[in-house]
Amino acid sequence: MKTGYTTVYNPLAPTHPSGVVKLIVEFINSASSPEQFPADGLPEVAFLGRSNVGKSSLINALAGKRGLAFTSNTPGRTQSINFYRIDGTFYFVDLPGYGYARVPLAAKSEWAKLIEHYLRERSNLRLSFLILDARRGWMEKDLDLKAWLETNNHPYIVVASKIDKLNQAEQQRGLKAIRLHAEPLPFSAITGRGVREIWQAITKTHQP
Ligand code: GDP
Repeated sequence: MKTGYTTVYNPLAPTHPSGVVKLIVEFINSASSPEQFPADGLPEVAFLGRSNVGKSSLINALAGKRGLAFTSNTPGRTQSINFYRIDGTFYFVDLPGYGYARVPLAAKSEWAKLIEHYLRERSNLRLSFLILDARRGWMEKDLDLKAWLETNNHPYIVVASKIDKLNQAEQQRGLKAIRLHAEPLPFSAITGRGVREIWQAITKTHQP
């Protein structure tokens, strides 16, 4: 098990009297079947997006820990669901990226079964982040997933990632295109833009 502590910014306790607040992030497991999902019933926040959209970088930025979520370019390794426990109170759930062209068809359907099982059955799932590349906007699979989340009454937030790659005019254009379907939260793993807003959305889900 990989356990990490970070001291950058703990949104769960931003005014801790010590002034130095550690966010405890634990990698729990990489589940390739539902029996391996954590059974403790803690609330979960899921991250979804096409391969290469910046999902691992987003998770690392939120956790304040480089290299926690691995960017995986190996098709075989993208088939499992990674669970990270945050401060012992809830999970970040890293769902496998979709649209990996090199995944053989059979593997793709295994992926679809696992992800669908997770989204359909997980009653402790509180919030999903649907990550889009700000430069590319919506693609068919993103829209399918969005429709699916809505049909199944799953709350979700759209993140427009890699916003630093666009100049001001391009940002306006990119965000406007994404707004045709949902209001996006601009994000950059490089500048940290959006980290605070995403954390705020997450902490809201745990308020009684
Ligand atoms: P994943 O496959 O969705 O987990 O995507 P990764 O997090 O591995 O990112 C894919 C590529 O995009 C990597 O080369 C990252 O360095 C790059 N990347 C991810 N997020 C950002 C970002 O916010 N800004 C920039 N400039 N590059 C990013």
